[in-house]
Amino acid sequence: MAGGPPLKRYEFINGQWFDGQQFRPDRFYASGGLLTRNKPATIDEVVDLAGGFVVPPFGEAHNHNVEGLWNLDETVSRYLRDGVFYVKNPNSIREFTSQIAGRINQPWSIDVVFANAGLTSSGGHPAPLYEHVLRESRYKAVIGEVPAEWFKNRGYVVIDDEADLQRQWTEIMAGKPDFLKVYLAHSEGARRVPQTDGVAVRKGLDPGLISAIVARAHREPLRITAHVETAADFRLAVSAGVDEIAHVPGWLLGTSEEASQLLLTDEDARQASRAGVTVVTTTVAMRPQAGGHGHHAPEPYRHEPAHASHGAPSQSFSIEGSFWSQAQEIQSKNLRLLNQHGVKLAIGSDHAATSLAEALHLHEIGIFDNLTILKLWCEQTPQAIFPDRRIGRLQEGYESSFLVLKENPLEKFEAVADITFRMKQGHVLQGKQ
Ligand SMILES: [Zn+2]
Repeated sequence: MAGGPPLKRYEFINGQWFDGQQFRPDRFYASGGLLTRNKPATIDEVVDLAGGFVVPPFGEAHNHNVEGLWNLDETVSRYLRDGVFYVKNPNSIREFTSQIAGRINQPWSIDVVFANAGLTSSGGHPAPLYEHVLRESRYKAVIGEVPAEWFKNRGYVVIDDEADLQRQWTEIMAGKPDFLKVYLAHSEGARRVPQTDGVAVRKGLDPGLISAIVARAHREPLRITAHVETAADFRLAVSAGVDEIAHVPGWLLGTSEEASQLLLTDEDARQASRAGVTVVTTTVAMRPQAGGHGHHAPEPYRHEPAHASHGAPSQSFSIEGSFWSQAQEIQSKNLRLLNQHGVKLAIGSDHAATSLAEALHLHEIGIFDNLTILKLWCEQTPQAIFPDRRIGRLQEGYESSFLVLKENPLEKFEAVADITFRMKQGHVLQGKQ
């Protein structure tokens, strides 16, 4: 890892270290940016952790807010402050990513992976969102007026048939995505719903193309994440062999008639568990604003809210307040079911300032105990974002990255927000947080 001040060798005393189940007094050293229990020949600095509770840094498995130069410093500081060091952006514009590349994935910054533009069909989500909503609400202030279809091949790639896939694959790969994103939406009706003039229907890729796309991605090899809305989308994503599902059905509820299409079955959960797919929670993605008077974009654009914000994140879109409790019930049922079947979960907020909001909301809805949420957030989520790195554990040879909490989050979950010390890859983070 290039740059930054030289790595010191540290000794950490008076820490209570999370071992995956509980906090125990332990002694670790940092040498060469890695954790070790073997005392280095020389110690440059002894750090007294003052009885604090040491956990691996947190992750954010779904958000779009790390995107461009215009708000990068503020966004990075916010993530570091909340102890969220690992972020996954499952739809991004690759030319913006290249502008910020030198300032992320560094020891003193956050580590981020990007999908670049996701794959959808003509008129499928998120094409209308980019072209008709975000063009004005998010991007006008930062890139000015852009011509029609500017976002095509930037914010989304249109794949209507095998020939499109064949033709566009080289270009998609030329952007060097860290993983690939595909959009599924109401795939149960994909063959039934005609494209009516002027009225966009919620749809994603032709379900018949998913397996071919997954196979191509895996040959690269690239991991693949699917956007889903309904239980049928979820089922299709699992059977096609995607690696990750970016939402739990129930995150988006447009009409109460839709509710029955969002409930997962035992068999869905069994299959997801067998397939080893990771499912990202996103329970706060569409949370109505305080007071329940979220302003809405017209149907069918009431989704992907943070795409529509820049600067301080805000919920520009949300579920109708009257549907919110119904949506929450569905999400909770689905999440509980997935967890009971041992499906891998990861914490992602999609639109909040950081995944802290998602973690606190998971705690608030009461379906998981404190230990489960903590493990999801500091172990499984980082590992889901960077499966090849030695992160998410406080063990010999793992990256020396951790947070010290003033109080025990197993006793009081809100303690996750009171961080007294941050280390990333052997560097003490200070100042900006
Ligand atoms: Zn999203």
